[in-house]
Amino acid sequence: MDRQTFLKLLAAGVVGAAVGRSTASPLGPSPNVTATPETSSRAARTAPVSTAVEARSATGIVPVPPPAGVVAGLPGQGATLALTIDDGTSSDVVAAYVALATSTGIRLTFFPNGCYRSWTESAPALRPLVDAGQVALGNHTWSHPDLTTLGDRQVAAEITRADKFLRNTFGVRSSPFLRPPYGAHTARVDRIAADLGHPTIALWNGTLGDDRVLSAADLLAHAQQWFLAQHIVIGHANHPAVTRIFPQLMALIDERRLQTVTLDDVWSAGD
Ligand SMILES: [Zn+2]
Repeated sequence: MDRQTFLKLLAAGVVGAAVGRSTASPLGPSPNVTATPETSSRAARTAPVSTAVEARSATGIVPVPPPAGVVAGLPGQGATLALTIDDGTSSDVVAAYVALATSTGIRLTFFPNGCYRSWTESAPALRPLVDAGQVALGNHTWSHPDLTTLGDRQVAAEITRADKFLRNTFGVRSSPFLRPPYGAHTARVDRIAADLGHPTIALWNGTLGDDRVLSAADLLAHAQQWFLAQHIVIGHANHPAVTRIFPQLMALIDERRLQTVTLDDVWSAGD
């Protein structure tokens, strides 16, 4: 094992221990539907300076304009892996992912639902990573409805409220990406999203399978199956089991010589 791998494992182990000490319910807190931009701003003002952030240029990847329509995999040849983490029903799991990114430099894309308090709680630690481009944030709606069941006005409201949340909490000015909850979308949903500044429907071609509760062994089996070059892998910050295999996930990325990228690293309209 080389030194870099050891350090990553060490760092991830510390993260795992921190999660293990938590006394919170393993199912995480219930949604905080009253979270407000005011609390977000307060959290952001107290943000500490990050010490383990790499510049976006560290990837050596030149982004191309985000396409209109569905993406479900990364373009071209290469050895990049986009890990995309959704929802955030568990504050402990969100915090663990943020700590993992801080300690290892891994590049992640989060698709938060603003209705969960986990994101405002982790904002002070997360915001420096967002500012540095190590972490990207995309729209996953405010409260995770199946958009295909809603009227046009409600679809727009869910997307707009999530945009406002990302702007107020993390200073995200815009993102081309909508990840529709459950991957459920239609041409109508896509058109509304595009009109609101999200032309790219960000789906996936690999999964940790953790939209339901899985054992660590099952999670690792999914990672073995799907941590592949040019894949977009979906995971969820909802159930704590995944935090216990962070060292194995990092080792897998190293063994396979994969380079983690954010979706913004790959697709960006430019500033
Ligand atoms: Zn989701």
